Amino acid sequence: TIWNLGSINADHVYAVDHILAPGETLAATDLTTGLGGKGANMSVACARAGARIGHIGAVGPEGGWAVDRLTEYGVDNRWIKRLDVPSGHAIITVAEDGENSIILFPGANRALPIEAIRAALAEAEVGDWFLTQNETNLQAEAAALAREMGLKVGYAAAPFDAQSVAAVLPLIDFLILNEVEAAQLEAATGTAPGALEVNDVIVTLGADGARWFDNRSGTVEDFPAIPVTPVDTTGAGDTFTGYVLAGLDRGMPMGQAIGLAMRAGALMVTRPGAADAIPDLAEVQAFLQP
Ligand code: ADP
Repeated sequence: TIWNLGSINADHVYAVDHILAPGETLAATDLTTGLGGKGANMSVACARAGARIGHIGAVGPEGGWAVDRLTEYGVDNRWIKRLDVPSGHAIITVAEDGENSIILFPGANRALPIEAIRAALAEAEVGDWFLTQNETNLQAEAAALAREMGLKVGYAAAPFDAQSVAAVLPLIDFLILNEVEAAQLEAATGTAPGALEVNDVIVTLGADGARWFDNRSGTVEDFPAIPVTPVDTTGAGDTFTGYVLAGLDRGMPMGQAIGLAMRAGALMVTRPGAADAIPDLAEVQAFLQP
């Protein structure tokens, strides 16, 4: 089982002619609302990859639909709290030239009480995985608790936040970053991914694939991406992370889990949308199969 402490957002995507200037009022030409947030995306990816996944998080009074959506995808919702704080959401404007701007409102995502995490992890078993990112509160407290209880701890240090990273890094077995976050981490800590005291570190490189640092043996392995024509790269990293964790949770060797995640990530970028666009295992296995 995977236990994911993570954000749940409503992504409101507004199509506009151009990105707003200060003081400007602009009518949008289209609106689509979908499930997003790095946490929710990763939970959906874990579930769609076939893992047992319990999401630990919170929504506000208007967030019931997001919980329903997660549940439909197979995520265990018993550890998602309903708080009297507005749900996390993102106001995303996308201009005709593809340029975007985003307002992120954390809301309930950053208001989770520690009791909720304790209650969830009380159900966990030794050897389960705990996963978290930087869009909630209590990452370090939860990671420490999970580790104490004999869980393996995975961390996607995104969005990069030096304070959270410093607190969580000593508590983890597995770290995943994109290229930008890897550079931010190295700048903040003065340590390269291959020199961290974390067993496994993956740096995803977009269209260039991913690099796995096995820091126990000191080896580095490169995995090329699967060539596709990207339509929307939103959620590619989250999909990749969920698929890797699901593979590891099932007992796959890292190389095989990365191979599966590489396909899932490539398929994901050919589709518009966030959580709702994440492919399931059958689609990923059929992708590029003769
Ligand atoms: P993030 O979304 O966090 O920035 P990346 O852009 O590094 O993460 O993408 C994560 C993974 O998704 C990559 O390692 C790769 O497997 C897949 N991916 C992303 N962009 C592409 C692309 N243009 N072509 C093929 N695969 C891609």
